[in-house]
Amino acid sequence: MFMSVPNFPIALDVATLFVVAVCVTALLGLLLLFAWTQDRVRALAWWGTAYLLGSASVVMWSSESHFSPPLPPGIANAILYVACGMIWSAARIFHGRPVLWGAMVAGAVVWLAACLIPEFIESVKARIVLSSIVVSSYTFLAAAELWRERRKRLSRYWPAILVPVLHGLIFLCPIPLAGALQADDGMVILADGWVAVLVLEVMLYVVGSAFIVLVLSKERTVRIHRNAASTDDLTGLLNRRGFVCAARLLIDRCKQKRDPVSVLVFDLDHFKRVNDNHGHAAGDEALQLFAAVAGANLRASDILGRVGGEEFVAILPGSISDAAVAAERIRSSFEAAGGMVANGTLNLTVSVGIAGGEFGADVMALISAADKALYKAKFNGRNRVELSDEVPTVADERAAHGVSDEPLLAS
Ligand code: GH3
Ligand code: MG
Ligand code: MG
Repeated sequence: MFMSVPNFPIALDVATLFVVAVCVTALLGLLLLFAWTQDRVRALAWWGTAYLLGSASVVMWSSESHFSPPLPPGIANAILYVACGMIWSAARIFHGRPVLWGAMVAGAVVWLAACLIPEFIESVKARIVLSSIVVSSYTFLAAAELWRERRKRLSRYWPAILVPVLHGLIFLCPIPLAGALQADDGMVILADGWVAVLVLEVMLYVVGSAFIVLVLSKERTVRIHRNAASTDDLTGLLNRRGFVCAARLLIDRCKQKRDPVSVLVFDLDHFKRVNDNHGHAAGDEALQLFAAVAGANLRASDILGRVGGEEFVAILPGSISDAAVAAERIRSSFEAAGGMVANGTLNLTVSVGIAGGEFGADVMALISAADKALYKAKFNGRNRVELSDEVPTVADERAAHGVSDEPLLAS
């Protein structure tokens, strides 16, 4: 019933492998181009085109003898090196860096120049060594582009760096071998023996890197959408949703370290008049100015957001008295900077309410308490800082969640 497995070595047919590699690469190229039409990530278009160009160059190379008139010597390889340069350029584009056109085609230019030398054309060793140098250089350059981005998410990035580095190292192997083997014949025999393994390796690299670039690009698109959903267009600050998320994270961190947190609520004074007397554009400029002034007067660990028309909120680690110092700094700086809007014809001021809470008190309860202090600041004449008497507790957190999650700001 059970047949014994025949005991013979796996024979890798080079011609079949070439056909499979070309088809797989071309198919992945089309897949990447399709992904580009969906997500509009420009790097995907470059990567996909490079794959199509690469597979076309291999087809040209393997059928060079059928061309009439014959192709100029080395042209198929030159196209392959342009494709390698394009993959490196795609990695640069992916990280917002410009394409270096000269460097991208340098491999192909050097190759074509070398092909003008008859001794080079005749030496298998020289051609293999130069090919190895060009392919591995572009692969290491692509890996270097990804390495520069590693700080952000190393745990996710390591396959993206490891795959091209391994590919580059494998393509460097022929160089020491060429040094060790004196005669061209030895190199030819070695190349014949290894070509199937190399084609397999290239196929794995092509599939692996297409998969990685698709994952990275999807991750990037999701991140951009998430940021857009939590950012205020006019000022670039967090919007209400983004602020509440970031504030909750900060509260959790401070709770673990048993650090107090304080919330500052800002409302620009008589802002309606600014719009009415100087136009909406001047009003927008004033809002951007406030965002810049407040940002410049807070620490990197503090979080600032625009939660309403001319209403801003900040949360900072520290006691209510530390927050009062920061609030006073922002109030006076904004009053001084107001002269920069609408040719200095505006009197821009801001009122501030502050509240500090127990460790772990909810952000909505803190905003609510700071909002009441803001009312006091408005009532007492505006352009001033008032502190809340309330100290929201963790119990208030439950109430804040149970009752309402809406903004509780004065308007
Ligand atoms: P108060 O000192 O009591 O805060 O007076 P106010 O005039 O600032 O108060 P109010 O909240 O009534 O006015 C807010 C104004 O902010 C109303 C609206 O025209 C303006 N506003 C809201 N969003 C924007 C915006 O995005 N751009 C501009 N230019 N104005 C805005
Ligand atoms: Mg106002
Ligand atoms: Mg208001």
